[in-house]
Amino acid sequence: MTNEYDPQNVFAKILRDELPSTRIYEDDEFVAFHDIEPIAPVHVLLIPRFAMLRGPAEVSGADVDWIGRMMVIATRLAAGLGLEESGYRLVLNNGSDAGQAVPHLHVHIIGGAPLGPMA
Ligand code: 5GP
Repeated sequence: MTNEYDPQNVFAKILRDELPSTRIYEDDEFVAFHDIEPIAPVHVLLIPRFAMLRGPAEVSGADVDWIGRMMVIATRLAAGLGLEESGYRLVLNNGSDAGQAVPHLHVHIIGGAPLGPMA
């Protein structure tokens, strides 16, 4: 990742409605939409609207409250998507070894089938 937030990254464009997305949830702080290349029957991305953070490594103490709300929303979305009983995976990638492709902090909500080992 470079050292500065790139306002041209695809999620920033989705937030500005410059790119289409299939949104399943939005509020003042967050937007959730289906991943364009799902790796499981359910694959949703949850992103903050306002936090220009490239990844979870940039979170600081000032972010504790909204990060908490984001995680609660992720679990509620998973339940709403029918994943509560079967289980699901929440993933935050950071940087190149994690394969992070989009430099805007996001949570993957993945489920709907056995996901296998992490790697
Ligand atoms: P990362 O690898 O950065 O953690 O995950 C980025 C995710 O964004 C990938 O799963 C990828 O399929 C998804 N993605 C990339 N571009 C788009 C797009 O334009 N629209 C949507 N809905 N998802 C995208």
